[in-house]
Amino acid sequence: MLRCIKCGTEYTNFRYRCSRCSNVLIYHNEGMKWQPSGIGVWRYQSMLPVKKRVSMSEGGTPLIRRRDVKEHVYLKLEGDNPTGSFKDRGTTVAISDAIAKGYRTVSVASTGNMGASVAAYCAYANLEARVFIPQDVPREKISQIEAYGANLIRVDGPFSKAVERSIEEMERDHNHVYLASTGLNPLFLEGLKTVGFEIFESIGVPDRIVVPSGTGGMLTSIFKAFEELKSLGIVNKLPRMVAVQAEDCSPIVNAWRTGGEVIPQEQCRTVASAIMVKVPFNAYSALDAIRRSGGEAISVTDEAIIGASKVLGKEGVFAEPASAAAAAAMQSMKTEKDEKVVLMITGSGLKDPNAQFRD
Ligand SMILES: [Zn+2]
Repeated sequence: MLRCIKCGTEYTNFRYRCSRCSNVLIYHNEGMKWQPSGIGVWRYQSMLPVKKRVSMSEGGTPLIRRRDVKEHVYLKLEGDNPTGSFKDRGTTVAISDAIAKGYRTVSVASTGNMGASVAAYCAYANLEARVFIPQDVPREKISQIEAYGANLIRVDGPFSKAVERSIEEMERDHNHVYLASTGLNPLFLEGLKTVGFEIFESIGVPDRIVVPSGTGGMLTSIFKAFEELKSLGIVNKLPRMVAVQAEDCSPIVNAWRTGGEVIPQEQCRTVASAIMVKVPFNAYSALDAIRRSGGEAISVTDEAIIGASKVLGKEGVFAEPASAAAAAAMQSMKTEKDEKVVLMITGSGLKDPNAQFRD
């Protein structure tokens, strides 16, 4: 069953958005069982609403402890996924659904990482990928999407414009085109939540999980994972969820500070291209998770992001700027001495290797 967390409407049939308020939808899984078996994302098949149809051994990423700080801080290295970012977790589930439903074409809007992920899985599954990308996508990410043979469509405008185009593409031919855009496909979030299960199996329930946030989907999914474990009686506490955004592109942080609605931010500029999202589709659920978990939303400057990239480098971790934002946020958090903190390193530094040298 799908549920709109904004207006509460429930749907038994699959759809991308709420017909009443057009907010995005979240799966409410009935019949889930905690029976981990195997490795990677599909180790949690019993917690997912889709059967595996395509997999490239995504998930099962390292969780390493930082040695350069006294606190118990862990880095979840999502850059170790097949296409170098956490997106592969959602893609394996969404594309498995597309295959099960007989689709041959997939439409997606992307700031780079999602496009690469969908392009790779479509190539592997012999589907056509149509990837809509906005301005300001680093050249390296475009090369990766092209390498997988996707049909790349450049949109003259921001990410929200690319999303509109990906929706139009699906609506024009909804019997044949499947929409995989982050935040608009509820199955994508189902795949992402497996990272929460992995963290739990490695170190139990951390006190805090720090998530670089663009659309807010990753944060929403991780909290959903822990809530599901709690509903099944596997855990009895929840982690505090911390969203991190770049100071000059922070609509989720602004809404958190004012306690009001999420206002799309027109002027956005940051070195952290993977979280440069002016209209965050999953903001409502992300803010709900932050509020209910006793967390917070933090913004960090580009200067702090680049500084944090270098600090992580000295720990042997090459993170893309968006991921380094999680480490940069550590400065602003008041953590207790024995707290266990997980920083989500959402993508590899190889995605955007020259970011720290740009003006
Ligand atoms: Zn609704």
